[in-house]
Amino acid sequence: MPELPDVELARRRLQDWMLGATIVSAKSADRRILRPHPPSILKRSLLGRSVRAVERRGKWLRLRLDDGRNVYSHLGMTGRWLRREPDAPREQAERVRIDLVRDDWPPISVRYVDPRRFGRLVVTGKSFPEWEALGPDPLIDGIRLRPLAQALASTRRTVKEALMDQSLLAGVGNIVATEALWYGRIDPRSTGQALSYPDVKRIARGLRTAIRKELADLEASYPEELPDAFRVYGRAGEPCPRCRSPLSRIVLGGRSTTYCGRCQERRRARGGRRRRA
Ligand SMILES: [Zn+2]
Repeated sequence: MPELPDVELARRRLQDWMLGATIVSAKSADRRILRPHPPSILKRSLLGRSVRAVERRGKWLRLRLDDGRNVYSHLGMTGRWLRREPDAPREQAERVRIDLVRDDWPPISVRYVDPRRFGRLVVTGKSFPEWEALGPDPLIDGIRLRPLAQALASTRRTVKEALMDQSLLAGVGNIVATEALWYGRIDPRSTGQALSYPDVKRIARGLRTAIRKELADLEASYPEELPDAFRVYGRAGEPCPRCRSPLSRIVLGGRSTTYCGRCQERRRARGGRRRRA
């Protein structure tokens, strides 16, 4: 499932392909991906428009058009934007097609492919609640320790689940959270309120490392999709890259989580108020 690094890479590609270009054709027949609008909104709103900016916040992309309208794109579980020649055949699972021209380039065709159709494409001139609700983005805003520590201190959820809350930090998903907690040596089952300030610092550093490393790996393998080079994600049963102890797998908040029971320390909140005898 695409997370911040994947979506940031998509943003960079879309910016290369679309910035300053004029849309000469926009087609889709997919009601589910374009909800709540009918697919006809695409042609009606995009034709003749040019793309002023390609932005990202968390896992959402935003194309800013020259008439002030925006196109919001979420990749869902299996969404990808691809660049093709205008005469290239339709892709398998192609849901949206946007053709563009730009002075200095031959015409191009940008295709949105999404086999499972959990992605979204929303064209609107109004504010978009899903975008507005997003918390700070680790790449754009940085990770500010004090607000993060405060938010974690006030939750009984596990730190793993809290980190995946998009209103706390935008763009962190299962992979980034799993990797960051391994880098930070914190057990994913620790509750938010059990963490000390130094723990939060370690987690923040882990988040930066996990995001930077995955972005670098994705850039290096593009446009191929090389096997993932995660340290612990998806590697249950394999030796921990740090201490060689076998990695464990549990489910937290319905999501599979891999961790090292030996070198990731578990923090426990003190139960209730204790009375002095
Ligand atoms: Zn270990």
